[in-house]
Amino acid sequence: MSGTTQIVVVGGGLSGIMAAITASRPGAEVILIDEQEQMGGWQRTSIQKIDNPPDVLEGYRGYDSTSYGRRVLEQSSIDCRNRSVVWGLFEDRTIAVHGPEGAYQLRPDKIILATGSTEIVWPFAGWTLPGVMTARAARAFMHLHYVLPGRRVAVIGRGADADQLQADLEAAGASVVSRFQTPDGVEAGGDGAVEWISVEGEREAVDAVVLALGSLPDPELARHAMADLEYSAANGCHVPIRNAHMQTSVEGVYVVGDAGGCVTAAEAAAQGYVAGFAATDSDELATAMSALADAVQARGPHIDVGDAARIPDEVQVDREEQVIAACIRDAIQSGAVSVNDVKRKTRAGMGASQGRDTEYVIARMIRVQTGITLDQLVPMTARPPARLVALADLAQMAAAVD
Ligand SMILES: Cc1cc2nc3c(=O)[nH]c(=O)nc-3n(C[C@H](O)[C@H](O)[C@H](O)COP(=O)(O)OP(=O)(O)OC[C@H]3O[C@@H](n4cnc5c(N)ncnc54)[C@H](O)[C@@H]3O)c2cc1C
Repeated sequence: MSGTTQIVVVGGGLSGIMAAITASRPGAEVILIDEQEQMGGWQRTSIQKIDNPPDVLEGYRGYDSTSYGRRVLEQSSIDCRNRSVVWGLFEDRTIAVHGPEGAYQLRPDKIILATGSTEIVWPFAGWTLPGVMTARAARAFMHLHYVLPGRRVAVIGRGADADQLQADLEAAGASVVSRFQTPDGVEAGGDGAVEWISVEGEREAVDAVVLALGSLPDPELARHAMADLEYSAANGCHVPIRNAHMQTSVEGVYVVGDAGGCVTAAEAAAQGYVAGFAATDSDELATAMSALADAVQARGPHIDVGDAARIPDEVQVDREEQVIAACIRDAIQSGAVSVNDVKRKTRAGMGASQGRDTEYVIARMIRVQTGITLDQLVPMTARPPARLVALADLAQMAAAVD
């Protein structure tokens, strides 16, 4: 296919859709890969109007914007691959994919990572019970499957996102009977599923507890590619360093949207616009950069969602590997000074989520015990697989490569 630039966009949220559409022009072959049933990403579950949107999305609610995006994709030449995970990004821009057609590799000229964000979870007594869920899970229940996550619900979280979630739950018919600003001191209990929640003794009957604690960027694939990272005070974690065109320190690898640092829907889309044009060396890049400058919104520093010193010793911090807080504290006491050290000593972070659910908490536990600040802390090493993949599928791929 000489003369054709192959571009793979990973993640079909607003930023990935926008990147794929803008990159899709004569001379470019674009593949858009997303693990969900449909393209649209997180906005598929949002009933809010998009603030400060690009003109084409003016007045649209989140789910409308994703329907619009899917209609544009259908009319394009973009090769859209849903139910497909990218589980590794290796040297020379080699991408490992697993989808309905099995496991395979791609080696495009350019890669745009639009993998979005992951929700913050924070351990408290009873948080592993069925019925305790994150805000996105609750929104998926309500707005994708039309099911109430619970009738008597407790919400944990502060700020506009948590307020909005509470309003969404109440509009759908649930009663929000308890609201806690942080998980500190919260205890949930029940026989096989959550039945009550309390802070300092007073129990309230509930059948669901929703954590609305915000999100963290998910640049895991950029970390596989060994892209340089920097600490972001606005996100409270490390993010890939990017130039004005959204390119990372790795030539030909771009990061857009929440994956590079959580932003508004409009800014995520505008970053996709820039990367799509930059990857194809388009004359329209200057226009895209000016649209991005208009969409940028200043953000204050990240505020920790909980106090790591108050996580009870017996509570699991890593529920996949069943590692309790006391075990992590012992590891730090005996010399662990990074999340990687804690992982090696305790297995915390070795489960299916590859540390996405635990790095935030363990970093703060290290800071409490050692005084090492978050910007000084070495970020956790990310290794494939980024998503679960069966050994049989890997064997099939290895045979195909041979
Ligand atoms: C609680 C909350 C409230 C918000 N409220 C607002 C608001 O009111 N106004 C506003 O403007 N913005 C809001 N935002 C922000 C806005 O929703 C996001 O900025 C925007 O949706 C991000 O789009 P994205 O394309 O970067 O990521 P996403 O929409 O998260 O899409 C990423 C996609 O990539 C897929 N993916 C990830 N990894 C892989 C992989 N390895 N292989 C295959 N697929 C993968 C994911 O499944 C997902 O489909 C809110 C965000 C949150 C979390």
